[in-house]
Amino acid sequence: AKKSGRGQHRFFDKSLNRKDVEAFHLEQSFSDALRNREFVLHYQPQVCLETMNIIGFEALVRWKHPEFGTLYPDRFITIAENCGFVIPLGLEVLRLACAQFAQWKAEGLPVTPIAVNVSPIQLTEPEFCWQVMALIDEFGLSPDQLELEITETAMLDASAVESLHCLKAEGIKLSLDDFGTGYSGFAHLESVPVDKLKIDRSLIAKISNSHDDSPIVSSTIILAKRMNLKVVAEGVETREQLVHLKVAGCDIAQGYHLSRPISADQVPEFVRTFNRR
Ligand code: C2E
Ligand code: CA
Ligand code: CA
Ligand code: CA
Repeated sequence: AKKSGRGQHRFFDKSLNRKDVEAFHLEQSFSDALRNREFVLHYQPQVCLETMNIIGFEALVRWKHPEFGTLYPDRFITIAENCGFVIPLGLEVLRLACAQFAQWKAEGLPVTPIAVNVSPIQLTEPEFCWQVMALIDEFGLSPDQLELEITETAMLDASAVESLHCLKAEGIKLSLDDFGTGYSGFAHLESVPVDKLKIDRSLIAKISNSHDDSPIVSSTIILAKRMNLKVVAEGVETREQLVHLKVAGCDIAQGYHLSRPISADQVPEFVRTFNRR
């Protein structure tokens, strides 16, 4: 009993750990952050494997926190989901991406689509589809230039699935993110109307220059093609992976081997240099 008492005491201490304190602190500063425009987007190129030109970008959020410096999404998205803040944050991200994209379009930069990550919690909002369409309208974009990356399809409820059908009917592109992880696989493809599959980087990491080229990746690409879906590989870190993916018929690649995520002002020069190679 004494021993378990001690264990409980330690557990109690642990439950008030640094992480919880930080989560509390971040939660408190969310609304200030929105007001002070502390959220910024970085953009990672997506490269067509046939032409080796950049076709589009994935927008990835960063938080320029006045006290903690630059925070990456893994540090605050879950916290934002748990307190509901992911809904206004998600709209801010969409607004930033649409505004940036409209500017690039005006400058004649050939980048389309722009892909934005969406939390399943955003999809459960009945107004979500119309909020997206209002932004498309406000910035004079065409719906097929915006792609939403969705994940955790295993957990989507009826209202989320309804949002997806609404977005699809309006012409917004949908991409199934993190494909091949526990949260997203072929079993969910029947209920969600997606245009693309994004193979998770944990699967891409298994492609090495050894003889054993990941059969899971190759089979995924074949199955996706049979379903008329485009395939994107994320987390491509080596030339071997790139070559293997091209041979296996993958359409689009993204990863450090091609480029890290870059800031918006680096994008125009990056695209011109890359596509001229
Ligand atoms: P994700 O959607 O799977 O995005 C890919 C993540 O992998 C990004 O991390 C990207 O920087 C990183 N990455 C790209 N290429 C490579 C590579 O070659 N190797 C490795 N090791 N990593 C690579 P990031 O930006 O830290 O984002 C992490 C996750 O946060 C994203 O995973 C996405 O689920 C989420 N996220 C990012 N932005 C948003 C957003 O605006 N809204 C929501 N709801 N979630 C977001
Ligand atoms: Ca993504
Ligand atoms: Ca992923
Ligand atoms: Ca080229």
